[in-house]
Amino acid sequence: MDGTFELSTPSAGADDAFRRCVDTFLDASLTEALRAAGRATTGLKSSPEACADWSRILRAQGWLAPSWPVTHGGAGWTTAQRLYFENACAERDAPIVQSSGIRTIGPLIIAEGSAAQKARYLPAILEGRHEWCQGFSEPQAGSDLSALTLRAELDGDDFVLTGSKLWTSFAQYATHMFLLARCNPHSSGGDGLVFLLVEMDRPGIEVRPIRFLDGECETNEVFFNGVRTPAADRIGAIGEGWKTAKRLMSIARSNNTTTGQLRRALRAAWRESADAGAMDAGSRRHLAGLAQRIDEFEALEHHAGRVSIDEASTTSLLKLIATELHQLITQIGLEAAPDSDFAQAKYFATRAATIYSGTSEVHRNILARAIGCP
Ligand SMILES: Cc1cc2nc3c(=O)[nH]c(=O)nc-3n(C[C@H](O)[C@H](O)[C@H](O)COP(=O)(O)OP(=O)(O)OC[C@H]3O[C@@H](n4cnc5c(N)ncnc54)[C@H](O)[C@@H]3O)c2cc1C
Repeated sequence: MDGTFELSTPSAGADDAFRRCVDTFLDASLTEALRAAGRATTGLKSSPEACADWSRILRAQGWLAPSWPVTHGGAGWTTAQRLYFENACAERDAPIVQSSGIRTIGPLIIAEGSAAQKARYLPAILEGRHEWCQGFSEPQAGSDLSALTLRAELDGDDFVLTGSKLWTSFAQYATHMFLLARCNPHSSGGDGLVFLLVEMDRPGIEVRPIRFLDGECETNEVFFNGVRTPAADRIGAIGEGWKTAKRLMSIARSNNTTTGQLRRALRAAWRESADAGAMDAGSRRHLAGLAQRIDEFEALEHHAGRVSIDEASTTSLLKLIATELHQLITQIGLEAAPDSDFAQAKYFATRAATIYSGTSEVHRNILARAIGCP
């Protein structure tokens, strides 16, 4: 990289002492092997080995869960501090540890879980003993999630689950699933649902991986054949699971595509262009323009973390912008190096983001409604 423009913009609001502390720690802790694993990442997570090694180092430092409160084992950082850390990791090619436990269900348990649930689940997430997956979508319920039909029948102290989930990412590695099920068979839509925390080794659960065109098995079908699970292992009241799911989705915000991810993708596109000898003045200008758009996205993410605005439309806005920016960056990387396996893998990995965590069309509908369109 020739340093014509700065790819990582230090986030406003994180003070000098904090920045020095982060920089010193990362410079000392990131071995060349860890950086190589970070650079080689094409999907949402780095290799399991690199994730395990880097998680262990971050856990020992108390930084594995940047936004969790210190009382629950997190770093307790502000949004500005978290963004600085993400950018500093991206700048040094740290492995990507994408944990649903840390980013999604952990914060929900902190916000809405019982004291017993916090004691049981939060340390296990931090120690890497629990890996979570999200069981929302079903064969007939995707964009129209509230059409879901997985049955949850109350029997004594347990629910008995019958039905299936579809497209469940990383279910083959998960120890737990948070899911939505229909506990009132006479209900429809968002009524009569329950939000359950289910152990994946319960008898009657079967996971079948789905192989994508690129040969990867990231998502799965999950079948529930009369699975007994304690009714107490839920968040929110029986029948009010929809409320809990909405809360969870507002916590996930921009979800899998963070500012750090965008900066990593831009660094990769820059490398691809340089390695392919395709870096001319036009490409430089193009990449510099994308760097500026990432800065703008970061400012928006920062703003959204500080002010209280309509949660659904904020989530949609962040998800949509991040997805499309990420896709544009990997497209440019591929155009610069069309024969590179790495550029191809990155390009295809980012295409799926149009669909997961709510499709782009559905998010556009939410935004249209937010500004008063009929
Ligand atoms: C890689 C990947 C990982 C995933 N991981 C998970 C996971 O871990 N857990 C989980 O629960 N789910 C997961 N999903 C599922 C994902 O959330 C759904 O695929 C998504 O919500 C779309 O639902 P669908 O596939 O049923 O498509 P449909 O809802 O049938 O949509 C089909 C098409 O119609 C459009 N459409 C639908 N309704 C409207 C509307 N009202 N207005 C305009 N256009 C509309 C959609 O935008 C889309 O283009 C994953 C999906 C993918 C691809």
